[in-house]
Amino acid sequence: MTIATTNEPRCWIGCLQCYNEGRLVGDWYAATEAAEVTTSQLHGRPIPEHTHEELWCLDTDCIPVHREMDPAEAARWGEIHAEVGDDMWPALCAWVRSGSYVAEGDTDFPVLSDFEDRYCGSGWDSFQDYAEGLAEDIGLLSEVPESLQSYFDMQSWARDLAFDYVTERDTDGTLHIFRSY
Ligand SMILES: [Zn+2]
Repeated sequence: MTIATTNEPRCWIGCLQCYNEGRLVGDWYAATEAAEVTTSQLHGRPIPEHTHEELWCLDTDCIPVHREMDPAEAARWGEIHAEVGDDMWPALCAWVRSGSYVAEGDTDFPVLSDFEDRYCGSGWDSFQDYAEGLAEDIGLLSEVPESLQSYFDMQSWARDLAFDYVTERDTDGTLHIFRSY
């Protein structure tokens, strides 16, 4: 038995033939195992070949796209989770949910190298807070005499800066910030 991590993608795999006959036969599996689940395993008894073989993920958990999917697709999400790590998974899911992310070809799968390049972090109350921290880090006002710095319109600067960023909140309210390019 594997120990489930907090954010590990899971899917409820069901048998489509049973489903069409009005019986809900299936179970929850870790997404990483989804592609290997056999029809006999799913039904808990040996199933004759070429029958009841169409398995489908009818529900998912901790996968950032919300729709039914092929078990192979769920397995790919499981691989991506393993690759990026459980700690970074909420940030990656937020990036995908924002809709403004880089996907592999015409799939919904995110490109991890772009994610790593663009993710700025989380933990700020607002984008304004992030912008103020950034202004400090880059020494935006270092040439401006201190007595004049309060005249700088930080809000307006942050507003313009926001065009180059994507922000997305988690269900727990955590704000994730990403560069747009
Ligand atoms: Zn069945």
